[in-house]
Amino acid sequence: MNAPTRLPAGLHDLPEISVIVPMHNEAKGMDALFQRLLPVLEAIDPRFEVICVDDGSRDLTMDGLRGHHQREPRIRAVSLSRNFGKEVAIAAGLRYTRGRAVVIIDADLQHPPEIIPEFVSLWRQGYRNVYGVRRDRNTDGVGRKLFTRAFYKLFDAVSPTGLPAGAGDFRLLDRKAVDALLAMPERTRFTKGLYAWIGFKSVAVPFDVDERIDGGQSRFNFRALLRLAIDGITAFSNAPLRIWGYVGLAISALAFLYASIIIVRALMFGIDVPGFTSLIVSVMFFAGVQLMTLGVLGEYIGRIFVEVKRRPLYLVQEEIGVEAIEPVDATGMDRRA
Ligand code: UDP
Ligand code: MG
Repeated sequence: MNAPTRLPAGLHDLPEISVIVPMHNEAKGMDALFQRLLPVLEAIDPRFEVICVDDGSRDLTMDGLRGHHQREPRIRAVSLSRNFGKEVAIAAGLRYTRGRAVVIIDADLQHPPEIIPEFVSLWRQGYRNVYGVRRDRNTDGVGRKLFTRAFYKLFDAVSPTGLPAGAGDFRLLDRKAVDALLAMPERTRFTKGLYAWIGFKSVAVPFDVDERIDGGQSRFNFRALLRLAIDGITAFSNAPLRIWGYVGLAISALAFLYASIIIVRALMFGIDVPGFTSLIVSVMFFAGVQLMTLGVLGEYIGRIFVEVKRRPLYLVQEEIGVEAIEPVDATGMDRRA
């Protein structure tokens, strides 16, 4: 690969390992992060780069990164024009990596960098998708734990893509896997599902989730989690659409049965007029079912709409020591077109 000459010195040597760190208001924690991360990487191979993606932070994240880049040019950064969410920040980061392997890690040190050598050694043994699996979600509240478990159960039931439970974004991906991810044009980035969908020789590495370094709160509230769950299900399953066909069939069968009973009864005992309550109940029930079905349809149509608009996934505001690679997808099409 011919790097353009205007890149800063050092950028011409392709790194062995690229690390992506999505950052949203992480100015406070980043010193501690680099202090732990850099020695680990240095010990593996000095040819590394850390690409921090500032996901529309409103604190001094970008200023901090600029300072770090000056002292350590292997720390590089790109900032997005606003907050696009962690999944998109990672997608943006992937486009800037040039390493033969890419590690994705949270900025808040909940993902211990000390596991990375294990990731790398498995990668060197031929695994292309080495993913961390949380031993216990003891840093999560009970509500979140239950919600997560329910989500995995549901996802498993409705989607042909199996999600390994407890696996998140903390992982190492081989270049091949990264290129596969980059070739996926969809706007709704349910990365957990995408990682599973691409396949490749995969292996799990258990790790313990640490407390957030700055003692701060998770940026994912319940609404964000719910949205993520709906994104995940709709992106990887058509079951919510299909199910209404079956529901309709079952209801029609019941209605037919009930109709036969009424007709026979009317023929045998004559017509009587009670049944107002059951009438209202069934009208309301079916109105509810129909509205729900419409809602599900709307959910998918909305997603189709988002996809066909073909807006860029994110916009970049500033680049420090990096330049986006323009991936060419499997069809050989330049994706800028
Ligand atoms: N993050 C991000 N954009 C967002 C929210 C979070 O880039 O909109 C980053 C954040 O800086 C951190 C990582 O994603 O590096 C995980 O975020 P957080 O710790 O809040 O989530 P949790 O640990 O609860 O999954
Ligand atoms: Mg966290």
